[in-house]
Amino acid sequence: TTAVATGMQELLEELVVAHRPRGPVGSVPASIPHLGRVEPTSFGIAVATVGGDVYAAGDSDVPFSIQSISKVFSLALALRQDSANTLWRRVLREPSGTAFNSLVQLEAESGIPRNPFINAGALVVTDVLQEQRGDARGQVLAFVQALSGSSEPAIDGAAAAGELERSSRNLALANFLADFGNLRCDVRQVVEHYVGHCSITMSCRDLARAGTFLADGGRVGPWAGEPWSALTAEQTRRINSIMLTCGLYDAAGEFAYRVGLPGKSGVGGGIMAVAPGRGTVCVWSPGLDAKGNSVAGAAALADLSSHLGWSVF
Ligand code: GLN
Repeated sequence: TTAVATGMQELLEELVVAHRPRGPVGSVPASIPHLGRVEPTSFGIAVATVGGDVYAAGDSDVPFSIQSISKVFSLALALRQDSANTLWRRVLREPSGTAFNSLVQLEAESGIPRNPFINAGALVVTDVLQEQRGDARGQVLAFVQALSGSSEPAIDGAAAAGELERSSRNLALANFLADFGNLRCDVRQVVEHYVGHCSITMSCRDLARAGTFLADGGRVGPWAGEPWSALTAEQTRRINSIMLTCGLYDAAGEFAYRVGLPGKSGVGGGIMAVAPGRGTVCVWSPGLDAKGNSVAGAAALADLSSHLGWSVF
């Protein structure tokens, strides 16, 4: 469906009608039983512009599990605090072309993960946060609350506990990293904090607000209080480049082709996309494709970006 709306609010309403699933589509991850309880026809979308306007439609105020979208915020926070500039010695910036939880490249790369958005790389980032200030998951939560100007973002303890019980794969990745000396804190604690920040729940509206610094050279939106910068303009450009090349794992190329924006997905069905200089879009619908990305969410973003001409290309 190609939208014909003229205004942003009208466009979002049309996208909800066009893309809200009429029944279950795709799959939900078996490793996080909690996510199977979400209404499969949920669909929400929100746009927060660099000018400070927020548009939202559908289930845009329903909190959902942000999962891997949290990896953008943990990376931003680690870079913010990385005065000694050590992070990039511990994680690369190359797309992996493999599944988000893959182990295969770690041995060839001597325990240096291909990028910070696959699980191996995100575990290293969580370790850095834990090493810097302790309570990594609490740091990420406080950061997204500050960025969105909302106290609603919370950690879903039940989802985290359920995932932790089935964390053999993430524990394997973490142990492997530790064996190469690329995990400094206690292995189990790092996985716990990683799963904890993945289990943050947020609405599309709050997530779009929290992400506008990525569209605005690091500057936060007016909802985040007195003006401050989450990152420098240069750091922000670089995070966007990593989102474009690695944000949707082994579907990053396809997403760049269809949507043309830096994006980050999570297995909770959310996708955050950044239109530099314009705004940040968050879409959510729980049904996933084989690579762990929201089916309806990606389709709606493709429609939105083509309608608005927001592609970075
Ligand atoms: N917590 C999930 C995991 O570690 C996050 C994965 C994702 O959203 N792609 O498997």
